[in-house]
Amino acid sequence: MGRCYRIATIPGDGIGKEVVPEGIRVLDRAGALFGFSFEWDQLPWSCEYYSVHGEMMPADGLDAIRNHDAIFLGAVGFPGVPDHISLWGLLLPIRRRFEQYVNLRPIRLMPGMNTPLANVAPGSIDFVIVRENTEGEYSDQGSILAEGTAQETVVQHSVFTRRGVDRLLDYGFRLAEKRDGKLCWATKSNGIFVAMPYWDARAELIAGRFPGVETSRYHIDILAAHFVRDPGRFDVVVASNLMGDILSDLGAACTGTIGVAPSANLNPAGEYPSMFEPVHGSAPDIFGRNIANPIGQIWSGAMMLEQLGEAEAARAVMDAIECVMIEGPRTPDMGGRESTQAVGKAIAEAMAGPA
Ligand code: ATP
Ligand code: MG
Repeated sequence: MGRCYRIATIPGDGIGKEVVPEGIRVLDRAGALFGFSFEWDQLPWSCEYYSVHGEMMPADGLDAIRNHDAIFLGAVGFPGVPDHISLWGLLLPIRRRFEQYVNLRPIRLMPGMNTPLANVAPGSIDFVIVRENTEGEYSDQGSILAEGTAQETVVQHSVFTRRGVDRLLDYGFRLAEKRDGKLCWATKSNGIFVAMPYWDARAELIAGRFPGVETSRYHIDILAAHFVRDPGRFDVVVASNLMGDILSDLGAACTGTIGVAPSANLNPAGEYPSMFEPVHGSAPDIFGRNIANPIGQIWSGAMMLEQLGEAEAARAVMDAIECVMIEGPRTPDMGGRESTQAVGKAIAEAMAGPA
């Protein structure tokens, strides 16, 4: 047997436990067709684990997976466990410790998806959001001053480092070079007038190193409007942690159900493992009914193949997803009546090997 990739596998909570096996099914099939294999190290880290052990993962959990080739995650979070515990107890430590500073979210209108936008055809929306994933607005630095008095004042700091901003922009420009050669970045320099002009200045400086890339700068508010009015104009969209987070949900909403949206948390240099997870959460409202759409998980798996250097296999997975989106079967969120497994199996079977 050829190459074998060791994957830290964290199904997590709710429908994460239903869609991860479908991701594994499709990736195993891709491996069989293209001559590689996986070792899926299953880790029970989740809210259920928390309810037994009082922590989302063991204290030495991150050390245990730092040499894996990648992390394949379903979803974490469940009613009864506060969000900050699942977030700060598992997801954020992984993103920060493994310097997964790029959060990559493809926004693509695929066939068979019901978009709320008028006059857009499949293929006409195809861009990626490159979101900063480790610093910025999501900091734990802040305080409440004069608490309990009429002067009560709350301060929350956003923290941007030159290293953090530059490395994100650098990734965005390199990606634009490989795609259609267009990059825009989102700021709000007229309102947030220290941090955002800093972003603008760094972006303009770094743009000088990529003369082949056409750049534009948008304020976040008008950028959001263009996502809805003219999404076809975008190629690579670079944004800070908070702005990128909001744009990702907006982009996913413009292209259909959240059940198909994928994401990657990348450590581009490969010093640490990168993590691949669908955009959706654990969806407690549909958990246990076997109707969760597995496509977001499977598409995240295709991104993992790409990062592992298996670009041909990644393309085969994407082609199979597209084929099933057109021909079915479909889960209820896409207007069908089929199960999670039926869709996973259909995608695995639709995959073709090397030409
Ligand atoms: P989180 O806080 O973890 O992001 P959330 O509260 O934002 O979670 P989700 O768990 O993503 O929400 O669910 C939002 C809605 O989308 C729910 O109604 C859920 O049933 C639906 N949904 C999410 N994922 C899927 C999926 N894979 N297939 C079908 N429906 C889904
Ligand atoms: Mg959410």
